[in-house]
Amino acid sequence: MKEQSFEAGADMQRQTKENNAYGSYRTLGGIINEKDCVIALDKSEKTAAFNKTLIQQAENIAERAGIVLENSDGADPRVKLYAVLRADNKPEDVKYHHSQMSDQRLFAETLRMLGDTDALDKLVNAYHKVGTHCPICLKVVASGEQCR
Ligand SMILES: [Zn+2]
Repeated sequence: MKEQSFEAGADMQRQTKENNAYGSYRTLGGIINEKDCVIALDKSEKTAAFNKTLIQQAENIAERAGIVLENSDGADPRVKLYAVLRADNKPEDVKYHHSQMSDQRLFAETLRMLGDTDALDKLVNAYHKVGTHCPICLKVVASGEQCR
């Protein structure tokens, strides 16, 4: 009896986790809509060949931030997801779209989408510096001001 209720609990936890993938992205400050996120994640897993320029772009951003990439089996999943999102075009009927984001901002969104808070911290620390223009939040950073 005890075991049974444990199983039920595990199932429920799993389900909650799936349902909340987009929820945790929003909690981390993500602003891309759910449909675009789902499509991009799906594409990044199924696409065989990525745009090499976009892959290189993401690798450069990651490298500057000191994010260690996992390249042993093709490109890193974070880099692949970035390449998918960067390749998206803005539909005519929407006002704001992730295609309008800076490269570093879009990479930050990618990390939020994958729930990689360690890498996100590294990225923000590398680019969000007091007195300089931050390419993620697009502001000249004042002391104590948080990146978003
Ligand atoms: Zn910033």
